[in-house]
Amino acid sequence: MSAGDAIRCTTCPRACTLRPGAVGACRARGNVDGRMIALSYGRVTSVAVDPIEKKPLARWMPGSTILSLGSYGCNLRCPWCQNHEISQVGEDGVDWKEMLPAEVAALAMRLHGQDPRMVGVAYTYNEPLVAWEFVHDCGVLVHERGLKNVLVSAGCVSSEVVAAVAPLIDAANIDLKSFRAETYRMLGGDLATVKATIELLAATSTCHLEVTTLIVPGVNDTREEMDDLAAWLASIDPGIALHVSRFHPSWRMRDRGPTPVIRVYELADAAREHLIHVYTGNC
Ligand code: SF4
Repeated sequence: MSAGDAIRCTTCPRACTLRPGAVGACRARGNVDGRMIALSYGRVTSVAVDPIEKKPLARWMPGSTILSLGSYGCNLRCPWCQNHEISQVGEDGVDWKEMLPAEVAALAMRLHGQDPRMVGVAYTYNEPLVAWEFVHDCGVLVHERGLKNVLVSAGCVSSEVVAAVAPLIDAANIDLKSFRAETYRMLGGDLATVKATIELLAATSTCHLEVTTLIVPGVNDTREEMDDLAAWLASIDPGIALHVSRFHPSWRMRDRGPTPVIRVYELADAAREHLIHVYTGNC
């Protein structure tokens, strides 16, 4: 293979085949001189110290806060994305500043020194695993300083990527957007891949795992689908916390109103027939 050949990215199921200079569907990875590079590595668009409950994590270090970083890009195309200004753009579509792993770890340490309730770094807002190398490299340095790593992801990446970061992640919230393969296809993702990610993180004894499902009217709001989803999670571990969250119109999905609150509660009750810890969100 020469540097002029197209190469395939193995990070996610889209399996983009890219010629030199081309950028993948996620807008975060590309072929640079024959090598598949995370173009968004160290490019930070959003920095905030959030309550851990906002990630959301309900059953891990309650009352703590976390330095939350976002970049740009995502491999999915959810038409309701709340973070589309950063997730659905590339390097030219948003302001970013360079923040390399050593700087991330130093900032986390400084914030922890000012307030010990600030426990580490969350990789969040856009899809962090399209630049999983940045999560990995930050994660190593954050752990070296005795702080924690939190991952907030849609989990639609290869098992090799998940395995590379899982030992560094202390807590994760994975977005399980639907339990129907056709819905994932509509979003450009793959249900089986996300299920494999959840299974792998659940099997990682050092990682606390929670799951979020946003209930979108007409997309995934049936009792049958919630039964299937919650029963499957319970088959892994009935103690996995599930956040059943309410949709609000956003980005390209403004043709329907917010999910009726009563529907969110009904589906949370359905999930409680399988799982011990079920929370409602955005209601
Ligand atoms: S991570 Fe990005 S470049 Fe790689 S296959 Fe997925 S969408 Fe394509």
